[in-house]
Amino acid sequence: MDMDKLVSLCKRRGFLFQSSEIYGGLNGFWDYGPLGTELKRNIKEAWWRDMITGHDDLDAPAGAPSAFQMVGLDSTIIMHPQIWKCSGHYDLFHDFMVDCRESKKRYRHDQVRGRWVSYQGKRAFVATQFGGDEGLAETEQKGLKFFGLRAKDAERLAWEGDLISLTKVADFAEVLGPDAKALGTLTPPREFNLMFKTYVGALSGEEGAAFLRPETAQGIFVNFKNVVDSSRVSVPFGIAQVGKSFRNEITPRNFTFRSREFEQMEIEFFCHPSQSADWYKYWRDRRYRWYTELGLAGDRLILRDHHQDELSHYSCGTADIEYAFPFLPPGEFGELEGIAHRGDFDLRSHMEGKLVREGDTLVVVKDAEGKPRHRGSGKDLSYYDDITRERFIPHVIEPSAGADRATLAFLCEAYTEDKVPDENGNPRERVFLKLHPRLAPVKAAVFPLVKKDGMPEVAQKIYRDLKKHFNVYYDEKGAVGRRYARQDEIGTPYCITVDGETLTSGTVTIRDRDTLKQWRVKVDDCVAELSKGLGG
Ligand code: ATP
Repeated sequence: MDMDKLVSLCKRRGFLFQSSEIYGGLNGFWDYGPLGTELKRNIKEAWWRDMITGHDDLDAPAGAPSAFQMVGLDSTIIMHPQIWKCSGHYDLFHDFMVDCRESKKRYRHDQVRGRWVSYQGKRAFVATQFGGDEGLAETEQKGLKFFGLRAKDAERLAWEGDLISLTKVADFAEVLGPDAKALGTLTPPREFNLMFKTYVGALSGEEGAAFLRPETAQGIFVNFKNVVDSSRVSVPFGIAQVGKSFRNEITPRNFTFRSREFEQMEIEFFCHPSQSADWYKYWRDRRYRWYTELGLAGDRLILRDHHQDELSHYSCGTADIEYAFPFLPPGEFGELEGIAHRGDFDLRSHMEGKLVREGDTLVVVKDAEGKPRHRGSGKDLSYYDDITRERFIPHVIEPSAGADRATLAFLCEAYTEDKVPDENGNPRERVFLKLHPRLAPVKAAVFPLVKKDGMPEVAQKIYRDLKKHFNVYYDEKGAVGRRYARQDEIGTPYCITVDGETLTSGTVTIRDRDTLKQWRVKVDDCVAELSKGLGG
């Protein structure tokens, strides 16, 4: 699929706009237009319904070790700064960046790649921000230009192997930066904390410093005790939250995939340590299934277990749900969601202070005088089980998803081009979004075939009746074929047309977006017929 076509459809039809566009835009920030807003809402609502309100706490779902409860939370974006010290974000949530003295551009160290090349005894590492064929083509061109050669002299350059990461290059003196003309203009990598800093209240100095949350999860951990004490939940149970998170990404790119402001859908599932390995497997499989059931069913979606050496120091298992986004080089996947076994790391950190692993155990980070470097809350965040009479710190399984990446993946998967016969039987190009009916922004469109003979009045009545149940759209402008095409392009599953026969037989046609089949139903049965097709 050609990503440019999807990006242009998103803008043209009002799914996504560059933020602050009339002022030239702001890199890494995106606005959702009317249809994008509906789509993203539907994704968040499907998640909330499937994970929380629709969850039956008296019955164990397929694959779950036992029945359990799920509750929601809505915590603040700005929280006590100590939270980020204990969570590790203050010290560890950074990327390494390199700056280019020549172009004044900044890159993520691990995202710059390049190839070694030599010509007449001179050697250079030609860097690019692209991978795969695009990266190879770009380095080839830049290499020729750098050595002052023409395309026909390409064989005179001796390339050494494939694209490799800049992280594998020790000395930058021979590096030609992605946007530079001279060698050695990149600075050594420096740490860059990804949290946005702000100041609370009248205190302008460091005393008032606070951060916009880089994840919603910590709001859940610090409210664990409140929820246990107020909600009559018992372990195992989960707390879910949907909300904005902020990361000052060094190189935001790939449409909404890597943004600086984005929305997360996170669950922290609290369980007994002896059962946490089983719960981890359960959540990993259940979350993967969720995407497949909503239409990411092909081989572009994978579940990837992390290798032992990729795991965080507290984790005994992490898996990513990844999607082969069309903007990535072939064979590469981008993360949609991470499911992590986090042990008791988070609750213990908020009790005792920031933890690190020493040997086989987690210990509190101490300063030179032996005092905890980042003090925890000092509150007891353990859990007492009334039935077994046991006190323990629950283990946590964290399925952490991004609403914007999910939206983008569903859009990419849905984008379909095919050929259909027009009124004269000639093939016509058709673009449609094959979105799952639960996710489609508009569920049905109602058209009068022509704007006369009482058809608009009947169609408007149907529209008003349907509107009580679904998000429907009324359109009487232009040829009906054009109106169908417009709805196909935004993924509307059904179109209802009022025609001459409606006035005599009291029936309308319903047209299916994917199969293009049309059938007649009674006007009074429209709601029932659509409910059947939309599954609700
Ligand atoms: P990446 O490695 O791609 O930066 P991550 O591993 O840092 O992602 P997590 O911290 O696990 O991501 O965040 C959980 C989810 O939040 C991700 O799976 C993704 O869907 C979403 N997410 C994280 N960062 C961004 C971002 N910059 N823009 C959009 N969504 C994001």
